[in-house]
Amino acid sequence: MNVILLGPPGSGKGTQAKRIEQAHDMPQLSTGDMLRAEIAADNALGRRVKGVMESGKLVPDDVMITLIRSRIRMPDCRNGFILDGFPRTLPQAEALDVMLRGEHRQIDHVIEFEVFEPNLIERLFGRFTCCNCGASYHERYNRPKVEGVCDVCGACEFICRADDRPEAIKTRFEAYRRQTAPLLPYYDRRGILQKVDAMADIDTVTRQIETILT
Ligand code: AMP
Repeated sequence: MNVILLGPPGSGKGTQAKRIEQAHDMPQLSTGDMLRAEIAADNALGRRVKGVMESGKLVPDDVMITLIRSRIRMPDCRNGFILDGFPRTLPQAEALDVMLRGEHRQIDHVIEFEVFEPNLIERLFGRFTCCNCGASYHERYNRPKVEGVCDVCGACEFICRADDRPEAIKTRFEAYRRQTAPLLPYYDRRGILQKVDAMADIDTVTRQIETILT
């Protein structure tokens, strides 16, 4: 089963992707996490994308398509994957279709995270992630069970994202509206788009997703 999670920044895609990953034993492919890993490694790709990411703009399609193509071909994706943050533009969606068709595979579910945008800004402020496994938390809505310790991997270091600043957040929402939202009718036409109420609490959203996937 191959799944795409679609929704604006802060809509909870990463949090839910991690839960689906555990429940269904299929990997979360977060292009944002992949790029942040390249930046942390300070390699050529990382240096190329750092400024773009921090500004909140999208990284060029050719870079993203190359990145996801090699990831999807890895053995752990053979029985399915959860795309979190890809595709984000129509050219990316079309390239993904071509890639999968060539391997006699397809996207089975596209899940739209429906949100009330003004409330999302508040969710993005105060967000922090585990330095080791990338699990995401929030100062007010989703603190680790044990203060200062990651629920998922037990690590004790956390980081706030450089693009969770007001200017970058504005740019990320604009990019979503202009470049990513047109993917909704693209998948709806194929009858594989389903919505969840992403303003509900985390467990409720997980239950809505499970209803779609099972
Ligand atoms: P995310 O962690 O999904 O919110 O992504 C963080 C940032 O990484 C985005 O604001 C973009 O700069 C970049 N990025 C991640 N995925 C993509 C993609 N599919 N296409 C273009 N840029 C991306």
